[in-house]
Amino acid sequence: MKILEKALLIEILKGLALTLRKMLFAKPVTIQYYDKVRPVPAPGFRGRHALVRDEKTGDTLCIACLRCARVCPSKCIHIEYEIDPQTKRRKVVKYEIEALRCIYCGYCEEVCPVNALVLTEWYEYVGFTRDDLIFDKEKLLKNWDEFIVTQKRPYMNPFWKPRGIPEKFLPAKKRQFTGV
Ligand code: SF4
Ligand code: SF4
Repeated sequence: MKILEKALLIEILKGLALTLRKMLFAKPVTIQYYDKVRPVPAPGFRGRHALVRDEKTGDTLCIACLRCARVCPSKCIHIEYEIDPQTKRRKVVKYEIEALRCIYCGYCEEVCPVNALVLTEWYEYVGFTRDDLIFDKEKLLKNWDEFIVTQKRPYMNPFWKPRGIPEKFLPAKKRQFTGV
């Protein structure tokens, strides 16, 4: 029987029949991107980075505490700050994320005490050069503007509230959770 099956190429014919069936009748699992766009895979999907824009000042909410840069396992966040002579508080002068080095762990947004940083659910971004995917402060704020217009306000990112930490132990500004 085995010899007969081999002689008649039964297995090959079965394979060809399967291929033909799939070609003619199976529904494609791929889509014609860019004409069709898939919805966000899941709430809290970690996509393009953004700095939340403070609507009152038009600037970032970031207070230059450096926690995100310290916690980042890829060391892809670079921050420089100066001390504001009037308020004596830190003021961000440079904020940069190298998106190509990021592993999208989400630690930076979890650790931020003021919910200034977010990995948005925006997955449609590309760059033709390495520099295109180095996000400076202005690009990060622009990323927020582009993202937030697609969202309901106020926006809530699941990673702003770290799991397993009781709310009372979170910094005051983190207890609000929502982006402005
Ligand atoms: S998601 Fe992770 S790797 Fe990416 S910038 Fe944040 S802490 Fe760094
Ligand atoms: S953790 Fe938040 S506030 Fe601190 S430096 Fe990073 S983005 Fe700014």
